[in-house]
Amino acid sequence: MTSTQQQTQGAKEVEQYDVIVIGAGVTGLYALYRLRQLGLSARSFEEGSGVGGTWFWNRYPGCRFDSESYTYGYSFSEELLQEWDWKEHYSGQPENERYLNFVADKFDLRRDIRLNSRVMSAVFCEDENLWEVTIEDGRRAKAQFLVTSVGILSAGYVPDFEGKDSFTGISCHTGRWPKEGVDLAGKRVGVIGTGASGVQLITEIAKEVSHLTVFQRTANFCAPLRNSPIDDETQQEIKENYTAILEKCMETPGSFMHEFDTRSAMSVSAEERLEKYESLWQESGFKKWLSNFYDVMLPGEANEDYAEFFRDKIRERVNDPVVAEMLVPKGHMFGSKRLPCESGYYEVYNQDNVLLVDVREAPIERITPTGLKTKDAEYKLDVIVFATGFDAVTGSLSRLDIRGEGGQTLADKFANGPRTYMGVQSAGFPNLFTINQASVGNFVRAAEPLVDWITEAMQYVKQNEYSRISATPEAEAEWTKHVAEAGAKILRSQADSWYVGANIPGKARGLLTAPDTAPVMRAKRNAVSANGYDGFLLQ
Ligand code: NAP
Repeated sequence: MTSTQQQTQGAKEVEQYDVIVIGAGVTGLYALYRLRQLGLSARSFEEGSGVGGTWFWNRYPGCRFDSESYTYGYSFSEELLQEWDWKEHYSGQPENERYLNFVADKFDLRRDIRLNSRVMSAVFCEDENLWEVTIEDGRRAKAQFLVTSVGILSAGYVPDFEGKDSFTGISCHTGRWPKEGVDLAGKRVGVIGTGASGVQLITEIAKEVSHLTVFQRTANFCAPLRNSPIDDETQQEIKENYTAILEKCMETPGSFMHEFDTRSAMSVSAEERLEKYESLWQESGFKKWLSNFYDVMLPGEANEDYAEFFRDKIRERVNDPVVAEMLVPKGHMFGSKRLPCESGYYEVYNQDNVLLVDVREAPIERITPTGLKTKDAEYKLDVIVFATGFDAVTGSLSRLDIRGEGGQTLADKFANGPRTYMGVQSAGFPNLFTINQASVGNFVRAAEPLVDWITEAMQYVKQNEYSRISATPEAEAEWTKHVAEAGAKILRSQADSWYVGANIPGKARGLLTAPDTAPVMRAKRNAVSANGYDGFLLQ
C-alpha cells in the first residue's frame, strides 16, 4: 500500500494521506484542488457542517464582501470564471457561501472533505516523519504534511465581561451566527463593537429590532460601500475582461483592482485635492482610499487632511451634533485600523429607537441576567450581539494543540508573537505549512499564489524523496526581525487593532500580517523556491 492511498488499519483505524488540510474554507478548498492536481492524496477536516470557512460561519445579517466580488473569486479556472455570475458588485454572505459550495461540487472536492470534524490536536511523530491529527470524535489520521487552512479571522473573541454567563436572553458572536438565524424582530438588542462586522450588522438589524443600543469603544472611519446589482451588460464586460482585472490585482500592493494616484495630496492645490476627494467619495468600495493620492495611506499630513474630509462627511449625515461627534473618529490615523464599508450606517443613529453609548467614557462593568451595566447606566436587553472581533492570525493556530519536534507547542512558541519564515513555516515544526501570516490584502488573490507555492513545495519534497522540509532557525530569526522592523513603520501598525494583536488583552504586540506588499511577498517566496528552498532544511 503506497502513502498516496488511504490506509485502513484494522479496528483502530488510522487513515493515512500525503497531506492533511485543516479547514475547508477559501484556502482549504483550493489546497485540495491543487494537491489532487499534483497527484498527492489529501483529506480536509472541517469543523463546520458545511464548506466555506469565513463565509460559512459569518452569517450575521448584513455580512458581505467589501472587495469587488469578481476580484475575490478564484482565478484558477477560466471555466469557473465564465460559469459563475456574481449578482452584486459586493456580494452578500449567502451568495458567497453558495459560490464556495458550487466550487466544491464543480471540482468534486467533497469526497476529500470530512465535515463536522473539529481537529483537537496535531502531533509530529518524529520517528515516522508524519503528523498525527486527532479529531473531536476520537478518530485519528496521519500525513506527511499538514496544512492549517484555518483562517486569519476565525478564532472569535468575546471579552471576559463579568457575569457573561448570567444573561438569560440570547447572545451570540458575529463569527458564530446560528445557521437557523436569530429572530430579532421586536426585540431590544444590544451590540458591542463597531468594527467591520458590527457596522454591517448594526445597519441591517436596525431595520427590524424594536430598540437598538450600540456600545461603541472606538469610532471608525466608515465609507459608503455603494453596492449595486450587476446588470447583464456589466456581467458580460466583467467576463470579457477577467484577464485584465486579475492581472491588475496581481500588480497592486494589496491585490485590489485599484491603483494609487502617484501624486502627493499635498502637491496639488486645496481645491484640486477636495475635488478628487469628492469624486472618489461617489465611487464604490475601497477606491476611496486605494485610488487616492498615494500618501493618504501613509502617516503624515495627507493622511490627516483626508481624515478631516471623512470626519466632515460623518458630521453631515448625523442629525444630532452630540451623537455625530461621538461617531467621528479621533485618536487614530485614517487607515491605521481596517476601514469598514457601510450602506446607511450613520443614518441608523438618526432613528428614534437607536441609542449610541460610549463605553470608553463609561466602560462596561458587567453583563447582567437582563442586560448590561456600564459605569453610568443599566440597559435592559433581550439579545446581546458580540461584534467584538477575533484573536486574529495566531489565535486559530494557538487554539489547536499543535506539537512539533520535542513536543514543543506552537502556542508556546508564539507566546511572544509569531516566529515564522515568510509566514509559511515555523522552525521545529517540519512539514507544517501555515497559510497565515503570509496573507495580505484581497484575501483570495493573496491566498491562491500562496497555496500554489506551498503545494509545489510539498511536491518537490516528495519528488526528491525527502522526508522533511523545515524552516531553519536562522531564516526564521531573520524573517521575524524583518517583520518587526518593517512592520513597525507601516500604517496598519500604528493603532490598537487586530493587525497587531492589540485587541486581545495580554497578546504580544506585533504585526500579524505580512510586512511586504503582495507582489514582494510572491517574489520573495518564488526566489526561495527557485534557489532550492533557500532557508529551509531538506532531509
Ligand atoms: P474588530 O474590527 O476587531 O472590531 C471589534 C470591535 O469590538 C471594536 O469596535 C472593538 O473596540 C470592540 N471591542 C472589543 N473588545 C471590547 C470591549 N472589551 N469593550 C467594548 N468594545 C470592545 O472585529 P470585526 O468587526 O469582527 O472585524 C475584524 C476584521 O474582519 C475586519 O477588520 C476585517 O478585516 C474582517 N471583516 C471583513 C468584512 C468584509 O470584508 N466585508 C466584514 C467584517 C469583518 P476597539 O476598536 O476599541 O477595540
